Amino acid sequence: MKIAVSGCLIGEKIRYDGGDRRNDFITDELGKFVKFVSFCPEHLAFGTPRPSVHLVKEGKTIRVHSDQEGHDLTQALIEKSLCEVARLEAYSLCGIIFKSKSPSCGMKSTKIYLENELCDETVDGVFMAMCRERFPDLPMEEEGRLEDPSLRENFLMKVYEYHRIQTLKTAISDKEFL
Ligand code: SF4
Repeated sequence: MKIAVSGCLIGEKIRYDGGDRRNDFITDELGKFVKFVSFCPEHLAFGTPRPSVHLVKEGKTIRVHSDQEGHDLTQALIEKSLCEVARLEAYSLCGIIFKSKSPSCGMKSTKIYLENELCDETVDGVFMAMCRERFPDLPMEEEGRLEDPSLRENFLMKVYEYHRIQTLKTAISDKEFL
């Protein structure tokens, strides 16, 4: 059973500052039962270490700006995020776990700023939004919410159920070709 995960959550040193956000439950507990497929669109786009980024609302569009120089990095992040989504399509995934609050990976928890630097609201990160669109039925959750026992149980039940249905579908289609 495979679950895609933000690489920094399983100890990969790919955050903008070369650090990680290793999550013990995901790495040590969940890791006993599932195989992880890690991803990191920002590492792919900008390497590590790199300038941190944030989301900015410009009119009706959302842009990705570098924290340091203010450069607009939207196009590069979109292109590499699309590459990561395409790569994930090749796996038979049963779920995805995202790092919360990240401009790429946050799941309705990423702050979006107005041009005067005031926070406006929280939204999906760039990469997460693409995954939501590409894999609408796949169970998805953020690592922060998995700290809550009932949300954790709910997510794991969805993952196992999704896996069971996919296995059943494969068995039926194999039979059809016999
Ligand atoms: S882009 Fe996502 S996977 Fe990469 S360091 Fe940031 S939160 Fe982790």
